[in-house]
Amino acid sequence: MAKDDPNLKSGTKVVTGGRKAEWTGLPGQSGRVVNPPVWRASTHLYEDTAALADMRGRNEDGVLYYGRRGAPTQWALCDALTALEPGAFGTMLYPSGVAAIAGALMSVVRPGDRLLVTDNAYDPTRNMGLGLLKNFGVETVFFDPLDVDAFRALVAEGAQAVFLEAPGSLSFEVCDLPALTAIAKDAGAWVILDNTWSGPTGLAALAMGIDGTVNALTKHVGGHSDLMMGAATGTERLYKRLRRTAQQLGQVVSPDDAALALRGLRTLDVRLKRESESALAIAEWLAERPEVEAVLCPMLPGAPGHDIWKRDFTGGCGLFSFVLKTPDRDARARLIDALSLFGIGYSWGGFESLALPVDPAKDRSVAAWPPVGVDPDCTLGVRLSIGLEDTGDLIADLAQAFERM
Ligand SMILES: *Cc1c(COP(=O)(O)O)cnc(C)c1O
Repeated sequence: MAKDDPNLKSGTKVVTGGRKAEWTGLPGQSGRVVNPPVWRASTHLYEDTAALADMRGRNEDGVLYYGRRGAPTQWALCDALTALEPGAFGTMLYPSGVAAIAGALMSVVRPGDRLLVTDNAYDPTRNMGLGLLKNFGVETVFFDPLDVDAFRALVAEGAQAVFLEAPGSLSFEVCDLPALTAIAKDAGAWVILDNTWSGPTGLAALAMGIDGTVNALTKHVGGHSDLMMGAATGTERLYKRLRRTAQQLGQVVSPDDAALALRGLRTLDVRLKRESESALAIAEWLAERPEVEAVLCPMLPGAPGHDIWKRDFTGGCGLFSFVLKTPDRDARARLIDALSLFGIGYSWGGFESLALPVDPAKDRSVAAWPPVGVDPDCTLGVRLSIGLEDTGDLIADLAQAFERM
């Protein structure tokens, strides 16, 4: 099989991606090192003034021009990410996941447009709609990701772009991506998905008709809690806009950071599988605990969204929530504070486990919290990001923390 065969499995693609021979060697000795070197470069030099003049009118990928357009280290990362997403034409990099969301949204909306945003969106995404985009004359309307009919009605009233997130990264509902996408595409709207949770190895989003995905590389691709970066990957039509907008906004990532992200990417598939297995075992254990009202883990049979997850996704990750029976916030704080193997902090997708109190109600305006089927009096959530520690040790830590709660 050729190294760039699109039918290679994701476990192979994360290893082979972005290793073009001309990026990993010297002229006449191409492909001789495993990893593309870190090309630290702002100025790129030209042979003569004629060569400079020739390049001025050109704006192509994979051509040395000036540091803001990157060099082989960044291109290798873009290339590897694009290869993971069936149907993708190209990827742009941004200094954070939030910057990637901004870059993607600003590529598709214009003053006077209406943007529909899922009500389970990451809260900086909400704030972007209600702040930055509003200031540029874009109206943002939130919709319940589980109410397909209401979504259809909103689209019928007019929408130029739709922003999805599945599962929601606090509340973990899984919307019907193919159904929502078909409705939006029929109306001619752009569809962008924040796919940070499963990433391209767990969901073939563009193959469903979605125009582009945003991935906070800070999370799983970086994977080691030492890197901030984001990516937006799109079809040819979207990619052209992403590229133009990113160039106008001056977005660029450092080659050192791109090399770190590439290093993380090489082990992404095995880390996600290990994390997912461990998270599922912990979710099953939590579901039996008397203190737990509901476990919101799409990978867990019987949990909200499991059937759709199983239908549409090929992978998951270690991030999920559970809802406590107690309404006592101090009890929740005691539980989390008693954990010793789980750090308390934002972000997720690193090699180490994290725990966070979550109260999604304040970040939504139309969708229910807790989700339908969960006792509405039970609102206190705890989000776990399961890392690579031994599963039994993590369960033992949770068990002792429940005792101290
Ligand atoms: C963390 C996160 C982001 C933003 O990533 P940053 O790199 O922290 O800016 C975007 N979407 C989701 C779902 C996230 O969890």
